[in-house]
Amino acid sequence: MAKMAKMDIKSLTLPGLADWLAELGEPKYRASQIFTWLHRRGAGEFAEMSDLSLPLREKLSQKAYINSIMIQKKLVSEVDGTVKYLYELSDGNFIEAVLMHHHHGSSLCISTQVGCRMGCGFCASTLGGLVRGLTPAEMLDQLYTAQRDSAQRVDSLVLMGIGEPLDNLDHVLRFLSILSAPEGVNLSLRHVSLSTCGLVDKIRELARHRLGLTLSVSLHAPNDALRGKIMPVNHKWPVGELIGACKDYFAVTGRRVSFEYALIDGLNDSEGHARELAELLRGFPCHVNLIPVNTVAETAYRRSKARQVHRFRQVLEQGGVTATVRRELGSDIAAACGQLRRQHKPTL
Ligand code: SAH
Repeated sequence: MAKMAKMDIKSLTLPGLADWLAELGEPKYRASQIFTWLHRRGAGEFAEMSDLSLPLREKLSQKAYINSIMIQKKLVSEVDGTVKYLYELSDGNFIEAVLMHHHHGSSLCISTQVGCRMGCGFCASTLGGLVRGLTPAEMLDQLYTAQRDSAQRVDSLVLMGIGEPLDNLDHVLRFLSILSAPEGVNLSLRHVSLSTCGLVDKIRELARHRLGLTLSVSLHAPNDALRGKIMPVNHKWPVGELIGACKDYFAVTGRRVSFEYALIDGLNDSEGHARELAELLRGFPCHVNLIPVNTVAETAYRRSKARQVHRFRQVLEQGGVTATVRRELGSDIAAACGQLRRQHKPTL
């Protein structure tokens, strides 16, 4: 008979861990003890869990394993200290995370999938398609490993690295539950942003959980004709339905939605586009983040000129929409998503 696969214990939520221990005939109260070892004290082996009996530690190591990821490469920006990590997962796949320093503290941008199947025309992460979703443990380990390596606490987290978080929603929800549990790292979801290309059904599902996180929607175009050209997801979920879901998200959660808009030279950056965007978002309490697009070698898209970016923002503000231009960090280390992974594994 085939041996049962070991449990990925670091991917279990606290209630999930309690249930699993109960199945093993262990008292549920052990769950918070083990959970704290895994998520606060950073145990890499059951042998470290010194307040558990030896037989229990042995039983755990027979039935479960503790996930870890390895720093394969680390690039530090000479311009602003931004750190880019290339991590190797236990199955040999690669993902990226970026640690940034702001006035208000540090933030970490993490990946949620190996690759992506959303096909956005300007994005490096999707060029090789989707390999698989990350487990909750693999998302957590990007944080734990970065904190350990940098010897500092990460203050906020953005799910904006490789992958589409809402295409891996179940694992992302478990990750968020573990992340915010007081028995673990205890990071408030107020300090978490989740970015999506606009999977409307999943935005509605996420809203029902009423989490405190910030939903960030990658819009990049104010109408269907243009958005459809650069984001295939728009064929399934057009702009009107997407904005409708964002409005409902705000109504249900009371949390302001933010929109990302990557400015691409001559494509979506005219004053007319800005006016159309202001019209689309009029009266909706939200925020627009303007991002001069990062050039990806394989694509023809180029970033808008600084003057055009400035003008775009002005027109939005005049139209009553608050907008900021994202400060570029780590420009010398290819900090934009997916580019390092591709350099490293050009065959993917
Ligand atoms: N899949 C999610 C999250 C990952 S992408 C999403 O689509 O939101 C994170 C952000 O980076 C998105 O807004 C995405 O559109 C943007 N992005 C992708 N490639 C980019 C590039 N070359 N330049 C600027 N922004 C880019």
